[in-house]
Amino acid sequence: MQAFQDYNFQNKRAIVRVDFNVPLDKNTGAVTDDKRIRAALPTLNHILNNGGSVVLLSHFGRPKNGPEAIFSLEQIVAKVSELMGRKVIFVSDCISEEAFLKSAALQPGEVLLLENVRFYKEETAGDKDFAKKLAQHGQCYVNDAFGAAHRAHASTTQIAAFFPNDKMSGLLMKGELDNARKVLHEAQKPFTAIVGGAKVSDKVLIVQNLLNLADHIIIGGGMAYTFFKAQGGEIGASLCEEERLETCKEILAAAKEKGVQIHLPTDAIIADRFAADAATQQTPSDEIPANWMGLDIGPKATQAFTEVLQNSKTILWNGPMGVFEMAAFEQGTKAVALAVAAATKNGAFSLIGGGDSAAAVQKFGLQNDVSYVSTGGGALLEYFEGKVLPGVQAIEA
Ligand code: AMP
Repeated sequence: MQAFQDYNFQNKRAIVRVDFNVPLDKNTGAVTDDKRIRAALPTLNHILNNGGSVVLLSHFGRPKNGPEAIFSLEQIVAKVSELMGRKVIFVSDCISEEAFLKSAALQPGEVLLLENVRFYKEETAGDKDFAKKLAQHGQCYVNDAFGAAHRAHASTTQIAAFFPNDKMSGLLMKGELDNARKVLHEAQKPFTAIVGGAKVSDKVLIVQNLLNLADHIIIGGGMAYTFFKAQGGEIGASLCEEERLETCKEILAAAKEKGVQIHLPTDAIIADRFAADAATQQTPSDEIPANWMGLDIGPKATQAFTEVLQNSKTILWNGPMGVFEMAAFEQGTKAVALAVAAATKNGAFSLIGGGDSAAAVQKFGLQNDVSYVSTGGGALLEYFEGKVLPGVQAIEA
């Protein structure tokens, strides 16, 4: 693997795999959160400022059967141009003659955005011939799409093989990996992991791996109720995965054996229906009346979690404590975000997993008060599950 900073981009066309899978406003089509585009700018500007040109490759949404207007990257060309401060040429294809003519004509400092690479089924199939064609767009390959690094797709993985001496991680990818590795391999103790969100099944593997790494695991969000049910609690109509009751018991037993402290939210804010204006009450999390559902952690849990975080030196956070999208159920997530920020101020290292945790930190205006906010949801999760990310392996091989 080449070091990106040392590579000579002069007069080279760099194929840069980015993750420009940004959300759009349903009505206006405007980009509602441009974080992912901004995150790639240092890499793109470095190449352009060093005499190279850029061929951008990205996926956008999950098209099933070829091209679909709602998944076209053409919708974000103006935004990318605006953020880059230069014209971005677009071609409505990835491997057509026109696409190759356009990339071949690029001059140093110019940028070409290819159409959504997932319009080709060969992309998700990890097709080598397709990757070989994509590789013909440039003389070097830069992977800056950490958010897609857990996918063994043609543009994230197979393509790297065509650049044995000219493949590298971009600055975003490197930053993501440096921060994730710091937590995975060099965590200062006490190390607290906060795991939340809707489903136990999505987080089982990460919790199981964290049992070997963390001193404390705080569990919040909808997934906590399956743990209470597993211990005989009454959880009313709260989220519950019956088929995961045994898994929860096993996790609690393993934690005990390994000396890892699991912190479940002792109390809850419950609601009579899943709605922003539902009637609410506070109850112990294992005494929720029938037809009521826990939608946030309660004040006692918030206090207990805050105390654990105050004494932590390393913090990893993935998943909200409640339905933070609704003001009535945002308090727990907000308090935890504030506690993470306070611990960071006191010298702790805090890594916020992408997706909903990143959205929560941003919602409360704390994105600059934590150590690092990852752009990768699934990729970061898989990294902390202990898996090898194919996109990273392909570059580092
Ligand atoms: P995940 O994608 O698994 O991290 O889950 C995030 C989602 O979980 C958010 O949209 C939250 O609204 C939702 N969530 C968090 N806590 C609860 C809860 N107690 N009940 C239902 N949904 C929840």
